[in-house]
Amino acid sequence: MKKIEGMTERDLLAIKGKELDKEEIFLWFNVSRAGWVHDGDIKKPHAELFGLCSNGYFDCQRILCYPNLSQILAQQLVQKLEDRNIRKIGWVVSSASINSIRFAFAVATILKAVHIPIVEIETKDREALWRTIPSRAKVLQIEDMIITGLKVQKIRQLINVKNQNEVEFLPLVGALVHRPKKLEEEPAKKVVGLIEREIWEVRSEECLLCAAGSKRCNPKTQWLELIGIG
Ligand SMILES: [Zn+2]
Repeated sequence: MKKIEGMTERDLLAIKGKELDKEEIFLWFNVSRAGWVHDGDIKKPHAELFGLCSNGYFDCQRILCYPNLSQILAQQLVQKLEDRNIRKIGWVVSSASINSIRFAFAVATILKAVHIPIVEIETKDREALWRTIPSRAKVLQIEDMIITGLKVQKIRQLINVKNQNEVEFLPLVGALVHRPKKLEEEPAKKVVGLIEREIWEVRSEECLLCAAGSKRCNPKTQWLELIGIG
């Protein structure tokens, strides 16, 4: 993380005006211990989380805890969405996890839009706020990480059922990390991600890397070993 932490305000401002490619952003994740993907070499270790094997690991909170990085990444996503003709957005919604809130708020700030985290269990105060998205408002959904698209569907269903007015969801959803099994299949094609990687998870008995003798490492406790310098 030293490389990023050591950046001056001027360095960061210079980045803000420049479009970063996916590899540069992935490098930020990698040096922050926030993202790793297996490179295909069967001799190298692979990730083990919750008992399953995987070719990748992402933890957005290790990036989003830095407000300046969140702001730069949000700017990068806004640029990508504008390139896909997603403009004039009045409302941004997200799920209510802390990481989605952080990232969606940063995006909404740049868009000068309202941000509403959608909570599944409502208190009276929250209910009053998020059921009032006006009709004909263009609503953009932003999440920190999208895997299967189920989270996106769930948020939309909640809004459709509980909002006072019918709303217009924009056709694309924005994410900091988009890590589906297949990028070329629906609903993955509707997601614009700053990082986009195909990530699989399988049981050890079905894992080709385990079968080839690759070691399993927990990214939280064996990070250096996982990335090959431990
Ligand atoms: Zn395995």
